[in-house]
Amino acid sequence: MSNESRKQLLRNLPAVHRVIVSPECEPLLQEYGHTLVSKTVSEVITTIRNRMLAGEEQQAPTMEQLVEAVERRLTLLYQTHYRRVINATGVVLHTNLGRAPLASSAVDILVKTASGYTNLELNLDTGERGTRYAHVEDLICRLTGAEAALVVNNNAAAVLLVLREMAKGKKVVISRGQLVEIGGSFRVSEVMAESGAILHEVGTTNKTHGYDYERAIDEETALVMKVHTSNFRIVGFTHQPILEELVRIAHERNVPVYEDLGSGSLLDLRKYGIGDEPTVSESVKAGVDIISFSGDKLLGATQAGIIIGKKEYIKRLKRNQLTRALRVDKLTLAALEATLRLYLDEEKAIREIPTLYMLTRSFEDLREAAEELASGLRKIFHELANVSVVDGVSQVGGGSLPTEELPTLLVAVKSSQFSLNALAEAMRLVDIPVMAMIRKEALLFDVRTIFRREIQECIESVRRAFANIC
Ligand SMILES: *Cc1c(COP(=O)(O)O)cnc(C)c1O
Repeated sequence: MSNESRKQLLRNLPAVHRVIVSPECEPLLQEYGHTLVSKTVSEVITTIRNRMLAGEEQQAPTMEQLVEAVERRLTLLYQTHYRRVINATGVVLHTNLGRAPLASSAVDILVKTASGYTNLELNLDTGERGTRYAHVEDLICRLTGAEAALVVNNNAAAVLLVLREMAKGKKVVISRGQLVEIGGSFRVSEVMAESGAILHEVGTTNKTHGYDYERAIDEETALVMKVHTSNFRIVGFTHQPILEELVRIAHERNVPVYEDLGSGSLLDLRKYGIGDEPTVSESVKAGVDIISFSGDKLLGATQAGIIIGKKEYIKRLKRNQLTRALRVDKLTLAALEATLRLYLDEEKAIREIPTLYMLTRSFEDLREAAEELASGLRKIFHELANVSVVDGVSQVGGGSLPTEELPTLLVAVKSSQFSLNALAEAMRLVDIPVMAMIRKEALLFDVRTIFRREIQECIESVRRAFANIC
């Protein structure tokens, strides 16, 4: 395009005020107000001008087209980024999808706590100032058998706090096989450096013996640390001393033991045939002095780092300045408390905490869900796709029980008539996005992680997505 015609094109672009006073713009002004609309009009015009200058736009838009572009931009501006998503991946603790969904009693209290004032730091019996953590501390102690407890922002924060308070400038003895990196590039060795503690690794990647710890502990040692290797397993020629032995060795030398449990299971999932995850109370019983674990992994509550242990140590942690910086808000505490209360009755916990329910779902339950989903999907695709229910395996996820395979049922969609990739992409772009998987030329929906109440919504989302690609 010549310079002259480009100039001509630019001249055809209306000025901001002309757009604002146009009848097309009137409804936008009503809804969004003058300031926001004129700012957006100016942004849209600048964008178009740049496209014209770059030769990407050969024609000036009509007033109607311009106002439509402004409206699209305003709608996007008001759309919240965070949306509810249907998880059809079968990964129960899906970090990208927000890990643990909350139990409905936790959601109820969350809404109540969020929408008004609350007795966060007030003792209603005496009318005096109370402590923020008192409500959950008692409950955590009752459920784990610990003497005292503290809650911080997440388990990564808990590790940092414990190392800083207990071992700044001192040695921490840890097995080489436990110097793990967990998601979000959190490395035990680096957190240790950040905390000011001095790492003293013992043993080898696959084997560490009691005598390795015995030789390493000296007057400079402040802590023996054990890290649960949450997200991987070393199998074969391996050895680690059992927890009781580790505690005995450390205590004989007057050194406390800290265990980062990672997930922190409050009930014994082994009873349900799931995994080999030790429970939190087993660590307490073994005599471990300080234990930390996540609130939103197997426990199934909000993001939090729960620290439990002997009174004298928890007291010291509470006094550390970092604790104030890592403190949790009222919403976290309210939801955590409601979730913990469900654990008072194990059956209730399994039924009502979504993470536990999904992990322990019966085959009949999965079968009913899969049949309902499959029959809904068949009505959408008719002869354009083959929909069947097949066996599969789900994962726990969230860096928990990495080798555990949970037998599940998948709804598989196969088609030579349309692109499954295009459908999967369209499913992410509808009102309630659905995250499914593509494997070996099939679009797979693992029903384990779809709530029963979501099955019809899932079908509706697929229907819309399919309409958008047809
Ligand atoms: C997950 C995990 C953490 C971090 O917990 P967050 O609550 O995600 O911060 C720390 N240590 C271990 C062993 C873990 O598995």
